[in-house]
Amino acid sequence: MELSNPSLPNNIAITTKLDEAIGWARESSLWPMIFGTACCAIEFMSVAASKYDISRFGAEVVRFSPRQADLLIVSGTVTYKQGPILKQIYDQMSEPKWVISMGACACSGGFYDNYTTMQGIDQIIPVDLYVGGCPPRPEALLDALLTLQKDLRTNKYNPNRHENFKGLLDNV
Ligand code: SF4
Repeated sequence: MELSNPSLPNNIAITTKLDEAIGWARESSLWPMIFGTACCAIEFMSVAASKYDISRFGAEVVRFSPRQADLLIVSGTVTYKQGPILKQIYDQMSEPKWVISMGACACSGGFYDNYTTMQGIDQIIPVDLYVGGCPPRPEALLDALLTLQKDLRTNKYNPNRHENFKGLLDNV
């Protein structure tokens, strides 16, 4: 795709590929949905508030319907009983979609090594980015967001990357 604009100085021509133009558009228009179950969700609130201000990165339009979101941020302890709910929310999101697992509990169960606590949400849904910490600092979540945006810009994400994913609730 080639764009030229006579109003730009020296009639600058901008050349790009369609994939790159789409990646550029996507990176700054992520619509997150929070699946917040515990203390890490409080940390997300500070990311969204004025001090850390996630809107600087074009991701402040938090949705509460999965059908309107393309970035699922799972923050908090997830039990096996909550697993089907999480999977249903993930399934209701349209492609393309991405998942950030925020905090030790969402990534691995954290210190809750017991029969009720899921030992990582990737037992149920595919995860694109893991953010460690208990809880992670707001900067760590913003770092994950910036990493995702960079990967979208450079088209790192293969849309078929999860086609072989099989979680505990698939085919049951
Ligand atoms: S990782 Fe730590 S802060 Fe986050 S939900 Fe688990 S116990 Fe709470």
